[in-house]
Amino acid sequence: MVAIDKEWRKKEPSLKEVLDNHRNVSPFIIIKTDVQRRGITYTKKALEAVDLELHQTELREFSIEKEDAAPASLLLRDGTSIVTGGVGYTKTKREPYTVDVINGKIVLVDEGEIIEEVEYWEKPDYYNKLTSGGKPMWQIVGARPQRLHITPSQYCHFWDKPGNGCKYCGIGATYRQNIDKKPPRLDINDIAETIKEALKQPGRYTSVMMTGGSILSGKELLDDEVDYYIEILQAVGENFKVNKFPSQLNGTAFNEKQLRRLYENTGLTSYTTDLEVFDEEKFKWICPGKAEFIGYDEWKNRLYKAVEIFGRGNVNTGIVGGVEMATPHGFKTEEDALRIAFEEADELGSHGVSVKFDVWNVIPGSIFFQQTSPSLEYYVQLAKGFDDIRRKYDLNVDMDNYRRCGNHPNTDLARI
Ligand code: SF4
Repeated sequence: MVAIDKEWRKKEPSLKEVLDNHRNVSPFIIIKTDVQRRGITYTKKALEAVDLELHQTELREFSIEKEDAAPASLLLRDGTSIVTGGVGYTKTKREPYTVDVINGKIVLVDEGEIIEEVEYWEKPDYYNKLTSGGKPMWQIVGARPQRLHITPSQYCHFWDKPGNGCKYCGIGATYRQNIDKKPPRLDINDIAETIKEALKQPGRYTSVMMTGGSILSGKELLDDEVDYYIEILQAVGENFKVNKFPSQLNGTAFNEKQLRRLYENTGLTSYTTDLEVFDEEKFKWICPGKAEFIGYDEWKNRLYKAVEIFGRGNVNTGIVGGVEMATPHGFKTEEDALRIAFEEADELGSHGVSVKFDVWNVIPGSIFFQQTSPSLEYYVQLAKGFDDIRRKYDLNVDMDNYRRCGNHPNTDLARI
């Protein structure tokens, strides 16, 4: 349990103040960011509005195993997605937003005030079909409103050494809690069958995205992860008549030889590898496994090498926005955290790598559970600053914009 800090509203600018401070930022993106930051809960009426035939409720990703009857997540009126991971996916010392039904409309409510109208995500046509081996397809490939989402490796081997995984990450806890039903790796035939079935639904998906826990083994470090992804991408590519298809792999930082193998042997069009935390010392503390096996500077070098292979605008890196302020070793002020974030994003941008951030979900089961994420004002400044840097270097983020991803506030801004 995380106790709500009854004074939290006095300690940071309100949603209204942040909306007023940033009239040049879409209010939908600001609201989405705050919902991701604070999490959600549903009233009885809001849950009764779920139509299990129509709405997506189940979701399996590497740090999510959701089988309840609450909506998978929400959409705003302008099509902005709010990726929440379900009730309780983030638990902070602030009250979550409430989803309720008022005057026949499904709405977000805070302190009794209606903030915005929302819709529930629609269930994909393939979701409840079975693979030839009898597995529900929703367990094999997840979906957002805009894309298919494969998470084939549901365990991360940085956790092989206790405490060596990333301190904000819930993959280890999710995997252990669901060990009876969640295989560490998905079967490639199951993935191929599910993607084939999913693509029969006209007009829904703009891309295929793949991510998962790190696999460190192989002749060279990470060779097994690369081989696994190549096999999956080849199987997925069978569905397309062209060599390259709209796709993103968010994998570990591969070396040049591995990156070339990926590019040359698959239809992959974009590559992401997440630095997670800007600032080398904070990276070492928060992501000890990544620091031990690859290191901060080498992670960046591999991103720069990926640009030579995949092209400018086809490579980016993710950070968990706000986690660099975790206690006790994080930045003490939001100003310092933002200054370093923009310095690092600028350096990466100058090499053709764009940056996206996740709002830090303080996930039950992660080492950082019980910590507090920064203010909404911080997140809006982070989104605006990263978007400015991306524009300065004229980098597109097609693989992560609102039409293909819908998770990251700064890449949502590419819409305008
Ligand atoms: S690399 Fe870090 S963030 Fe990614 S799955 Fe492993 S522990 Fe989690």
